[in-house]
Amino acid sequence: MSTRVGTPPPDAAERRRAKVVVAYHAERLPPFDAGFYERVRSTLTKDAELTIPPRDARAFSVPAGHIFRIVSVEGPQVGDLNLWNEHDLSERFFSGKTRALHATHVTTGDRLWSTLPTLRPMATVTHDTLGWYGWDEDGAGVHDVIGTRCDPYTNLLLNGTEYHHCCHSNLARALAAARDMPVTEAELHVHDVLNVFMCTGFTRDTHQYFMKASPVRPGDFIEFFAEIDLLAALSICPGGDCSASHSDDTARCYPLKIEIYRPAESALAGWRSPPSSAYSRSHGI
Ligand SMILES: [Zn+2]
Repeated sequence: MSTRVGTPPPDAAERRRAKVVVAYHAERLPPFDAGFYERVRSTLTKDAELTIPPRDARAFSVPAGHIFRIVSVEGPQVGDLNLWNEHDLSERFFSGKTRALHATHVTTGDRLWSTLPTLRPMATVTHDTLGWYGWDEDGAGVHDVIGTRCDPYTNLLLNGTEYHHCCHSNLARALAAARDMPVTEAELHVHDVLNVFMCTGFTRDTHQYFMKASPVRPGDFIEFFAEIDLLAALSICPGGDCSASHSDDTARCYPLKIEIYRPAESALAGWRSPPSSAYSRSHGI
């Protein structure tokens, strides 16, 4: 915890009363076209599914225009999601800008944005059975873009032990297997995640990142429309429902299921993947 020192100036109260301004005009984003996505959702055929075992991860591809679901099975479990452009791993999910544009936690209608210089929606959340949760009395919500992913480096720093099934390592192994690359190369592509089903917030007194038992139950799912050809990877967090600990083997963990759906071609008539940012990249030079 940080220690704040310093004597407040005479006008401290006035400075603190400065008006709150939402930093980004999210209302200027292209609107969420609920009618389009509902038409797509009404024509789905399941193309594939896979079950990811606890404390492990798998990569999977989702073609643009397809839908994928992350489904809770057997028991409450948190998952850590990474997304890449299937054809260019340098374009990947930008957790920080997604948070800045939408909120600390995402739900139906929010988009998962890609890194600079492309900055475009990679996926749109089209259904979330935990949308009812909203914000609880602790200020917590579900599906956060504020955490990073549990990793063996921070674990070693804090606990002095090596643990090899943190989400970071699971995602690195999954990408290495999918792309036939060394795990040390793959881990450089692993990035801050969408914490699927995880219930988190910041403590009111110290503003520290906290977690509490996920409200997810078997049958719950979060669903995404792939805006571009995606390579995705999902880690089944060793924290289980993240009610107590992570980065160890103590939590009870359950698998998560991935379902991939193909819509009717007619539902996608006239639809195109969003283009990369049109910024010139001159940066003023
Ligand atoms: Zn984890």
